[in-house]
Amino acid sequence: MTPATSRSVPVMVPLPVAGPYSYAVPDGMAVIPGSVVQVPVGPRKVIGIVWDEGDETGAVDAKKLRPIEHVFDCPPISPAMRKFINWVAGYTLTPPGLVARMAVRAPTALEPEPMVEGLRLTGTTPERMTPARQRVLELASDGFSWTRLGLARAAGVSASVVETMMKQGVFDTVFLPPPPAVGAADPDYAPPELSADQRDAADRLKSSVGQGFGVTLIDGVTGSGKTEVYFEAIAETLRQGRQVLILLPEIALTSAFLERFEARFGSKPGEWHSDLAPRMREKVWRQTAEGRIRVVAGARSALFLPFEDLGLIVVDEEHDTAYKQEDRVFYNARDMAVVRARIGDIPTVLASATPSIESQVNALAGRYERLHLPGRFAEAALPDLKTIDMRRDPPARGGFLSPVLLKAVEGAVGRGEQALLFLNRRGYAPLTLCRVCGHRFQCPNCSSWLVEHRFRGQLMCHHCGHAEPVPEACPECGTLDHLVACGPGVERIAEEVEHHFPEKRTIVLSSDLSGGVKRLRLELEAVANGEADIVIGTQLVAKGHNFPLMTVVGVVDADIGLANGDPRAAERTFQLLAQVTGRAGRTGLTSHGLIQTYQPTHPVMRAIVSGEAEGFYAREIGEREKSGLPPFGRLASVIVSAETRGEAETHARALRAAAPQSRSISVLGPAEAALALIRGRYRFRLLVHGARGDDMQSFLAAMLENGPRARGSVKVQVDIDPQSF
Ligand code: ADP
Ligand code: ZN
Repeated sequence: MTPATSRSVPVMVPLPVAGPYSYAVPDGMAVIPGSVVQVPVGPRKVIGIVWDEGDETGAVDAKKLRPIEHVFDCPPISPAMRKFINWVAGYTLTPPGLVARMAVRAPTALEPEPMVEGLRLTGTTPERMTPARQRVLELASDGFSWTRLGLARAAGVSASVVETMMKQGVFDTVFLPPPPAVGAADPDYAPPELSADQRDAADRLKSSVGQGFGVTLIDGVTGSGKTEVYFEAIAETLRQGRQVLILLPEIALTSAFLERFEARFGSKPGEWHSDLAPRMREKVWRQTAEGRIRVVAGARSALFLPFEDLGLIVVDEEHDTAYKQEDRVFYNARDMAVVRARIGDIPTVLASATPSIESQVNALAGRYERLHLPGRFAEAALPDLKTIDMRRDPPARGGFLSPVLLKAVEGAVGRGEQALLFLNRRGYAPLTLCRVCGHRFQCPNCSSWLVEHRFRGQLMCHHCGHAEPVPEACPECGTLDHLVACGPGVERIAEEVEHHFPEKRTIVLSSDLSGGVKRLRLELEAVANGEADIVIGTQLVAKGHNFPLMTVVGVVDADIGLANGDPRAAERTFQLLAQVTGRAGRTGLTSHGLIQTYQPTHPVMRAIVSGEAEGFYAREIGEREKSGLPPFGRLASVIVSAETRGEAETHARALRAAAPQSRSISVLGPAEAALALIRGRYRFRLLVHGARGDDMQSFLAAMLENGPRARGSVKVQVDIDPQSF
């Protein structure tokens, strides 16, 4: 039997639907916009958010509506968050239900945490006053509740003094909610002494807290103290009683960050990333909504946490490409953080040693305030940077490390310091072929070569996860033992290092380390503690970490990223090289960055070696402006994929033909996507290019609307502001 109802409300369900559905509210059920509810959709039960009136998809006969089944006992999703969800959906051309799905969780009742017993004065005086009892009384009369142990400790007396007073009826006991384990954050716990430059920047930042929306870009070389500076803005926000969100690009970075935060604020922030255990995730979600967690540090998806009263967003390493999600909802968390801040009318801080061109242009145009920290903190000096011309100083036959680099590594480890060799390639070798017939191992599902992972004895695809054992014989010609590895991955560099430095402790750090995040954190800690001599790592070790003993950083192949013809290639390479060489020289020790390249005169290499970022960026910005590329123009890419090449291409062509007329927006392609086949799906790409003020969303929506429906295996994905173009 359906309960009696007198009204209906829109509910955003976590499904790919264009808007909220209407549901009946059973009499006696209290719901308001933002309430988290359980509703039926077909045979399923889903968790949705009561939405704002007027957003429903079409009118429905109120009598036929299905009722809301349950309202969860958790704070409602804030108006700012609901607005943000709508905004992100509109901007990324994603059904709002899919965006809402990122923001809602099953708020199942958490097991109540044990209450803490507290003591309160009753007014009865102790039978006999002693100095110890006197001290206890004085402390306890501050109007607050104390725990037995806390009171005894604070008064410097033994617990039995307090016990006796309790027996005499001086106190009665009350039960206090447990203190939050994380995220309490005391703004005045351990403020640092800032340098004059840091103090100036911190004061400017602090003065923006509480003043509504604004974006500040803090730049300054790696190790200049950007984190210390934005910590002051966080402290100020906490003093004003509001919550803080800190976005970090990499889970691997969080553990060191959490500790640093704890040292400054006296407790760890709430932690949010895809590797959290489900129960922990529910807990952080709920406590953020309840306002018990004051600060959250997390990956991009933390942007969709239901803060009760968010007062500041910090985006650390704002240039990082990890902020872009390219899956389901295509969004850039840095850009969306600015939108979230605008909707909430709060400040945002973007921090980076190598700010993105987008943010620099925004700063130049006066849309963002820019704060600059000129040098490294205290006696730490930037490493001395040099390129190694691989044509003049080639590695020994079969090797990848030039004698110049090997010598520098030898020097560092000889002095008891550490060296880092950076190569952004997992595995042993990026390509395996048969020396006899030339057969190459290709992924059966993707247009990519299989990468040999020698530690695991497998050939693996880095795009779909396909793996097969390394065979002894060539599958093509059957010849035994003639397979050859071409090019290096980190495992192969490790082999070379072990050959040269058999006595030294080497460690390989890459994302496919078995043992997951936990292991990775331990390994990073071990490196920071000096428990390894030579580290060979992918981009995982490139950013953020503080390794005090690291004095030599070698880049094995600086040219990797420059080859692909992407207009962002130079910017990306510059950022990566600056970040990775920035791992060296965190203390007073002299340090070196050595960059192996076949193009030592390339503008990126020159800029890195000279430290003249300004000129390099100015030129890059000029190029972008000339060709109308972002941020001076706008781009979107439309990826059409299907199980057959023909279907994908036909659909892409039809979409292009359906593009509306526009004076300034043009459609390029379709062309095969950079990876034409992934997971058995063929991919074609249309690139849509417009001017800065163009309404790309309307154009794209019209194109999709006029074009053929995606049928069969065809899928269409729109990527606004794509990472590569
Ligand atoms: P960035 O974020 O610019 O890379 P950090 O804030 O991480 O720089 O600072 C680099 C190192 O210098 C850290 O180990 C940090 O603790 C230290 N440091 C920076 N500023 C101060 C300060 N004012 N007092 C003490 N240590 C500082
Ligand atoms: Zn594959």
